[in-house]
Amino acid sequence: MRVANVAGRLNVVDADGRATDVQRASDGRFGPDPQTVYSQWEAFREWGAAARLSVGATVDLADLQAVAPRPPQIFAVGLNYRDHAIESGMDLPSDPMVFTKFASSLTGAAGEITLSPGNVDWEVELVAVIGKGGHHIPEEHGWEHVAGLTVGQDISDRTTQFASTPPQFSLGKSYPGFAPIGPHLVTTDELRDPDVLEIGCRVNGEIVQKGRTSDMVFSIPTLVARLSAIVSFLPGDLIFTGTPSGVGVGQKPQRFLKTGDELTTWASEIGEMRHIFVP
Ligand code: ZN
Repeated sequence: MRVANVAGRLNVVDADGRATDVQRASDGRFGPDPQTVYSQWEAFREWGAAARLSVGATVDLADLQAVAPRPPQIFAVGLNYRDHAIESGMDLPSDPMVFTKFASSLTGAAGEITLSPGNVDWEVELVAVIGKGGHHIPEEHGWEHVAGLTVGQDISDRTTQFASTPPQFSLGKSYPGFAPIGPHLVTTDELRDPDVLEIGCRVNGEIVQKGRTSDMVFSIPTLVARLSAIVSFLPGDLIFTGTPSGVGVGQKPQRFLKTGDELTTWASEIGEMRHIFVP
């Protein structure tokens, strides 16, 4: 199943992006809110598998808002790809290195993002949305707690991030619009192999990052297990799972986003987002 937030309403979409409004199609059994559905995820999945949906019109990318617009918690994992740790000049962590992106930084799959005052960088990431919550989830059950996958950008103001010692990861990555996710949430049964997706991004058409999620140091089931050994996951939580190599701060000379740049972000089998940077 593919799910989208179409102008604030929960929709099921087909592979061509044609949408069906869930509240109408389910005669009100499921509400219009794209966030609360994660608390009823199992029932929603069962309904979606059995429902005969008459598809509507193709949705405009500009109407696709964040697939989880009000997550109770957002986890983001730093240095989760070996090549990215090397380009960042940092050692690979032996435990997941975790910060948050504050929820006010979330935005949808397309539109304008205002540049912050510092050096603004891109970081394509696979994003897992939690369905069933829990504490002490065993790794072998990790995928069962993931409602689906989407693609995100962990946009980062490197100046703010490294302005203090130790660095301010959470603040430097939480300016408004610095956490776009979308265009759809895709359940893992729709994917050939949820552990192996290609993710990447382009700046003004030039590919700057392209990686494979199978190269993650800590896989999604491992992250679910290691994080839930400490915190309790709640339905609708997000996990930004880290970025592969190719960020601007790792290039020689360093390169950052500027006014008018177009950032296109994709994950295979999930879809593509498009954002323009404005002053
Ligand atoms: Zn990141």
